[in-house]
Amino acid sequence: MAVQRTFSIIKPDATERNLTGAINAVIEKAGLRIIGQRRIQMTRAQAERFYAVHSARPFFGELVDFMISGPVVVQVLEAEDAITKYREVMGATNPADAAEGTIRKLFAKSIGENSVHGSDSAENAALEIAQFFSEADLTS
Ligand code: ATP
Ligand code: MG
Repeated sequence: MAVQRTFSIIKPDATERNLTGAINAVIEKAGLRIIGQRRIQMTRAQAERFYAVHSARPFFGELVDFMISGPVVVQVLEAEDAITKYREVMGATNPADAAEGTIRKLFAKSIGENSVHGSDSAENAALEIAQFFSEADLTS
């Protein structure tokens, strides 16, 4: 597996509790390199576009409201097999099901307020990175 990039978001429940550094420490300890990072307030339009794949789900409105409820940190992570590796480091969507030592086990509040996002495929990683970063923002 070649060096790969994935897209990460540190969500509002985590920025609100000042957990950016603690989460980044878990990310870096796992061998993922943070090659781009920016703290932003997402607009409703940005959040709706980002989670468009979930627009028919019953929790979509709640999810968008949550994602714009406070600042988020958008990030690009790089490593061998970064997409799978970061999904492992994040843990299961529901923190009740997340393995020991994962970000969601350590920090998530609930299935909705679950502290981090990570891309689920190479195709989505490329689309998500392009929504928030230009190539000039990223330095390995
Ligand atoms: P993410 O895409 O944020 O990395 P994920 O891939 O683990 O998370 P998805 O199924 O893609 O999970 O769901 C996207 C997000 O929608 C979840 O991270 C969570 O914040 C929210 N979500 C998912 N299921 C529920 C639910 N049943 N109730 C409330 N919110 C939910
Ligand atoms: Mg997902």
